[in-house]
Amino acid sequence: MNMIFDGCDTTLLAKKYGTPLYIISQSTINERIESIQQNFLKKYPNTKAVYASKAFLPMAMCKIIQRGGLGLDVVSGGELYIALKSGFDPKMIEFNGNNKNYKELELAIKNDVGRIIVDNLLEIKWIEELSNKYNKKTYILFRIVPDIETDTHDYISTGHKSSKFGITLENNFFFNTFEQVMKSNNINIKGIHFHIGSQLHDNKSHLNATRKTLHLIKDIKMKYGYDIEELNIGGGFGIKYTDEDPVKPIEYFIDPIMNLIDSFCLDHRLERPMIITEPGRWIIGEAGMTLYTIGSIKENGQTKYAAIDGGMTDNIRPSLYQAKYAACLANKIDQSPDEIITLSGKFCESSDILIKDIKLPKIATGDLLAVYATGAYTYSMASNYNGQPIPPVVLVNKGQDHLIVKGQTYDDLIINNLIPKYLEV
Ligand SMILES: *Cc1c(COP(=O)(O)O)cnc(C)c1O
Repeated sequence: MNMIFDGCDTTLLAKKYGTPLYIISQSTINERIESIQQNFLKKYPNTKAVYASKAFLPMAMCKIIQRGGLGLDVVSGGELYIALKSGFDPKMIEFNGNNKNYKELELAIKNDVGRIIVDNLLEIKWIEELSNKYNKKTYILFRIVPDIETDTHDYISTGHKSSKFGITLENNFFFNTFEQVMKSNNINIKGIHFHIGSQLHDNKSHLNATRKTLHLIKDIKMKYGYDIEELNIGGGFGIKYTDEDPVKPIEYFIDPIMNLIDSFCLDHRLERPMIITEPGRWIIGEAGMTLYTIGSIKENGQTKYAAIDGGMTDNIRPSLYQAKYAACLANKIDQSPDEIITLSGKFCESSDILIKDIKLPKIATGDLLAVYATGAYTYSMASNYNGQPIPPVVLVNKGQDHLIVKGQTYDDLIINNLIPKYLEV
């Protein structure tokens, strides 16, 4: 029996488009957006949700996000370019990142991007310059370092004291910066932003960071009489990759945070700012699946390997931070697990192991492997290592399939190559 994903037979998709193949379920994305609408945007007034586009950003995704009524968070000129080319409303775009360069800021300011999330002094200088040059008012939030420890992999933790992201709250540095920008004619301070890390299953870090930021907002009001109108609490809500991940609904994070904010503002007679959140993987992660064909099968020492026709070039997360995934044999969905096997990628790194010791039905060359929850940080992190073309992306929706990114060809690998004349003999 074959596996069906959003109404589509996965083995037919593999035949039609080849493997490796990224598949994205629009029904799952729609459910996630609907949940954000019901449990955040409609439930609490004066709120906004922006999708963290670095998780996955083909132009079709921009369209889905815009139709869902969400904004878009970009972190580079390239992501901003994709968003603008797709026709995304610039007012609904916010620009994040810890080292935006002059050209990137120019693209943002020229195109009236809604918010710039400021990370450092250099970019303040450039924003000032560019806003003058183009005669624009630029609306910013300060990204602060909340100095919060998070219970996640070090590589996806971003809110600790010595994080490379944000403006430190130590030694009055933040207030000095704030005072400097307050004097600016064309930079308008809208709010405060934090993002503490990714794949979090516990709401404690968000609550701690929110509490700290609320005190900061109160201090700003007391010191300067300045009202912070927006508080951006970042993203990072965890999803289910394997059965070991506890599944938490979005309300588990949102409700306690909103309660904390409401009661703090009431106690301190502050007007409650607009609350913004930036979910990335929570929207796209579980909507994705990757299909591979099984090639060589062998036993080395104690380990039985089955090799897939992709690996770290289409999903670097297992090699990068030991990310865990679950999978099944899509053409043998009715067969029960029979052996323990390690699924290896085909690239020249020992860390290119997709899943260690997974229980699968008796595996054979030519079987179709389906890996779950691969929507986030896979396609967007893909590379051409070992001369591997980046696979196509197919959007599936209740039995319909649509190619949204063509697969690269070998010709794409050399399209930007030049050979100096003297090397041509
Ligand atoms: C990566 C990132 C997010 C999204 O993180 P997820 O774990 O995908 O939800 C949100 N905000 C900022 C600033 C980020 O860098």
